[in-house]
Amino acid sequence: MSPAVRFVNVSRRFGSVRAVDGVTLDITEGEFFAMLGPSGSGKTTCLRLIAGFEQPDDGHIEIFGETADGVPPYKRNVNTVFQDYALFPHMTVGENVAYGLRIKGQARAKRAAKARDALSMVKLAGFEGRRPAQLSGGQRQRVALARALVNGPKVLLLDEPLGALDLKLREQMQEELKALQKDLGITFVFVTHDQGEALSMADRVAVFNEGRIVQVGAPSSVYERPESRFVADFVGSSNVLPPAFASGHGGVSKWTSLRPEKIAVHPAGTAVPEKHAATEGEIKMVSYQGAVTRFNVEAEKMRINAEVPAGDTRFKPGDSVRLIWPKSAMVTMEEGA
Ligand code: ATP
Repeated sequence: MSPAVRFVNVSRRFGSVRAVDGVTLDITEGEFFAMLGPSGSGKTTCLRLIAGFEQPDDGHIEIFGETADGVPPYKRNVNTVFQDYALFPHMTVGENVAYGLRIKGQARAKRAAKARDALSMVKLAGFEGRRPAQLSGGQRQRVALARALVNGPKVLLLDEPLGALDLKLREQMQEELKALQKDLGITFVFVTHDQGEALSMADRVAVFNEGRIVQVGAPSSVYERPESRFVADFVGSSNVLPPAFASGHGGVSKWTSLRPEKIAVHPAGTAVPEKHAATEGEIKMVSYQGAVTRFNVEAEKMRINAEVPAGDTRFKPGDSVRLIWPKSAMVTMEEGA
């Protein structure tokens, strides 16, 4: 089976900026695929290349096994949900959703029926007559989604679609989007700079840095086994241990990732269990983060973060502590990368 989307060594430059730099990638049909990376890393440009709003300078793109070279956006079986929704304020919700069908010349009754179906998919049945200004942010987001779904795309491109929503609504929409994607069985390509969002929603995540994909895989593998310092640090702000530190504590003499939640904080001098490593240091900062508390500890001339479930109030800045972690939690990365 051909992949839904294939990038073969694709580059896109704007003047001297390499927005997308030699990306090779297969996105499988029916997959929820997240593109994750910091601002300016090339995610949106990749999405625009799939949509056909941009053309590659080098390499080529296939959609369901057919070349996309020279195929205009409206002839690709692909629709985009933009971050700002781009709804027409003077049109009703129903007219907004049916707009694409009107442009394609479909009859009024058929358009209206399809728009109703699309609105019920996003739980907005009965909202046809309202204007965008009469909707909440979350409802506007759903209208934008319905407007893309009404065309029956095989690939839906979502560019930070939840960026404008507050945290609670965003979490609710994350679940709904995921459920909708599973129901419809279509391929979603989702751009975000929020690692929690990418990890919780996607089947696979591609991590971008400076126009390149630096790692791609299931959320658990990207999180548990980062291959580079960049991924370790960007996805979940891991501790990055230098080779000498790692080898001095039972690891390999390579750059090593150690997740803060794998490190337990104990009073200085606590016995170290078998198969564990430890270091002693002084707490420099305590930050309460809701579900967890993060301790920043100075040890062996480094700063190490440890995260423990909130409610542990035993320690304060200035206390001497022993950090203890399982040796198996130390993950070796590509050297220097
Ligand atoms: P963000 O999360 O901020 O949207 P991104 O990862 O989506 O970032 P892109 O929007 O793909 O990044 O941009 C990648 C790089 O290409 C940036 O340096 C950006 O300034 C540049 N760029 C993108 N579009 C254009 C354009 N039309 N003209 C010039 N430079 C552009």
